[in-house]
Amino acid sequence: MTERSASLLALPPPGCRKNFVETPVAKPALGREIIEMSFAQTLDNLPLQKSTLVRGFEELIAPKSDAELESMARTSRALTLQNFGRTMRLFAPLYLSNECINNCRYCGFSRDNPILRVTLSVEEVAAEAHYLQQAGFRQVLLVAGEHPKFVSGDYLVECVRALASDFPSIAIEVGPMASSDYVPIVRAGAEGLVVYQETYQRAVYAELHTAGPKRDFDYRLDCPERAYAAGFRRLGVGALFGLWRWQDEAIALAAHVDYLLRRCWQAQITISLPRLRPAAGGFRPLGLRFAHQFSSGRDCLEHARTAFFARRAGIVRRNDDERREPHRARRLHPPGHGTSASDRGRSNHSAGFSGRRRQASHRSI
Ligand code: SF4
Repeated sequence: MTERSASLLALPPPGCRKNFVETPVAKPALGREIIEMSFAQTLDNLPLQKSTLVRGFEELIAPKSDAELESMARTSRALTLQNFGRTMRLFAPLYLSNECINNCRYCGFSRDNPILRVTLSVEEVAAEAHYLQQAGFRQVLLVAGEHPKFVSGDYLVECVRALASDFPSIAIEVGPMASSDYVPIVRAGAEGLVVYQETYQRAVYAELHTAGPKRDFDYRLDCPERAYAAGFRRLGVGALFGLWRWQDEAIALAAHVDYLLRRCWQAQITISLPRLRPAAGGFRPLGLRFAHQFSSGRDCLEHARTAFFARRAGIVRRNDDERREPHRARRLHPPGHGTSASDRGRSNHSAGFSGRRRQASHRSI
């Protein structure tokens, strides 16, 4: 058994904020089951074997006439209202650090990009969070690049602990960690974890992730299950659209959600469809035509996602979509379901909302 797979068996300690000790997932037997049944096998067999749910989703994203698309839009709207009402779970991303040891060709935070780097101190994180709280936010997503020196597990624990009393919902989006490393973060008060696979195509993934631990495709793919085993009860997944043919990514993402719904059944699974945007480093998407095709097929995918997963999973809307296409966004989605923005297109998010840390930026690896 590898060190990583062994970490899946780590049991959450007693007294953890979430009462997962009594749940089946905390039992070693299920831990072993998770290791043996990694989604990697399902993904690799996907061209030959699709579940009923995934086949249904595939039909929904097949080319549609305008009339069919309009019908899907009506269904999508009705399901949105039926499942979410007119409520919205609004969260804000808080960028802790843009230090990173990985090279991802599409990301401005890549270690070889000569951008200004900054990591907020815990006090600064608390100050930024206070700024968000004053603006009415009660849910926050802590985002950081992957750098064990600047963004350690202890640092994340301290950040979460500093915010736990003011924010009933705290999620993290950081480099994948071992299950045992997640446990203290859950104990400190985090309940959600977001990890996008970026692309579900192994060859494309290998080409785009040129250096750093992120090159390990399977380790990232199994991250939601490790987080679940540690006690996270909200798991966000997604693909970065614009890296490859959007239909292939959407089907693989649907299969991943299908798998997680069964495997991590006590967690809420949320689905995001982030789009690639220009970033420091000058990366041109692998075949710009794929990004363009995604734009033209996006209505279909949005409707399909809602029509198919509204009863099963959370739908994450990004406010950069709303800003750029407000009329389209309103038409597609009445006020009703979860939202916010997080993107990797800009070169330095980590100055925070108030921008007060900007003068302390530096260039480093
Ligand atoms: S995508 Fe994430 S891991 Fe890759 S360079 Fe950007 S911050 Fe680092």
